Amino acid sequence: MLARGLARRCPVCGQGRLFRRWFTMVERCPGCGLRFERIEGHWVGSLGMNTIVSFCVLFVVVVGGLVLSHPTYRMAPLVLTAGLTAVVVPLAFFPSSRTLWTAIDLLMRPLEPGEVQGGADPGRRD
Ligand SMILES: [Zn+2]
Repeated sequence: MLARGLARRCPVCGQGRLFRRWFTMVERCPGCGLRFERIEGHWVGSLGMNTIVSFCVLFVVVVGGLVLSHPTYRMAPLVLTAGLTAVVVPLAFFPSSRTLWTAIDLLMRPLEPGEVQGGADPGRRD
């Protein structure tokens, strides 16, 4: 389920093409009918996860840049790279953060009856 989410696919059925544009997600999965915004405020989790991932990548870039530029510490390339990272990573990760967050949400709050068509229930543990 997490791999499907990371691949920008529906965590329940694996359906792709969930985004009309990079930032525009369909309301419901065309495969199973899952409404992605399961509760009001659902996307706050994906925003938080995107922020955490972006800061982790930025941290690695800054520390890696400092280590690689030791002992001269040329700041201009490092600041430029860090700035690009801070802009590009959250934008690039945006769609995956939404579907991955939906997968995490489904692991924490399994599907309830009627949420999808066809009775797919990845939360069932029997
Ligand atoms: Zn689906």
